[in-house]
Amino acid sequence: MSILKVARMGHPVLRRRARPLEPDEIGTPRIQQLIDDMFETMRDSEGIGLAGPQVYESIRLFVAGVDDEERMMPPMAMINPEVTPIGSDVEEDWEGCLSIPDIRGRVSRATDVKVRALDRHGKPISMTADGFPARVIQHEVDHLDGVLFFDRMTSFESLTFLEEYSRYWSKSGEDQ
Ligand code: ZN
Repeated sequence: MSILKVARMGHPVLRRRARPLEPDEIGTPRIQQLIDDMFETMRDSEGIGLAGPQVYESIRLFVAGVDDEERMMPPMAMINPEVTPIGSDVEEDWEGCLSIPDIRGRVSRATDVKVRALDRHGKPISMTADGFPARVIQHEVDHLDGVLFFDRMTSFESLTFLEEYSRYWSKSGEDQ
């Protein structure tokens, strides 16, 4: 496995709409290796999610997951995901992004979502998520559409450098 370079805001790959993976591509060594490398890159960067375009691969694939006890989200790889909000509840919370280093901001997201995708073996997954995992999934799917979390902010008033975030707003928080 290897650690991949992460594209930063300003690179056009982050603004492109990524293409779906064909079913017969999913099992190829190239894609399986990419998924392993994305997990390794995400963990190395202490992130909780990483999407294909963030590692210069304009394909509809992301990995996500965190092992902390408070916000348990099992590691998952999702291919060609489709996310639909359930109901109209939204909540605002802090987000960060590996492609926008050392910045945090508050973003409104649907509280509950339904997700359909393929897993890393091409098997269909259908699940619901709420709260923190729902936020992470929406952030990652946005990456596949060329959308960054700044685009989702209704006000930039909460934009904060990481150092100030840690000092004034929280002791935790990971990039996605
Ligand atoms: Zn991100």
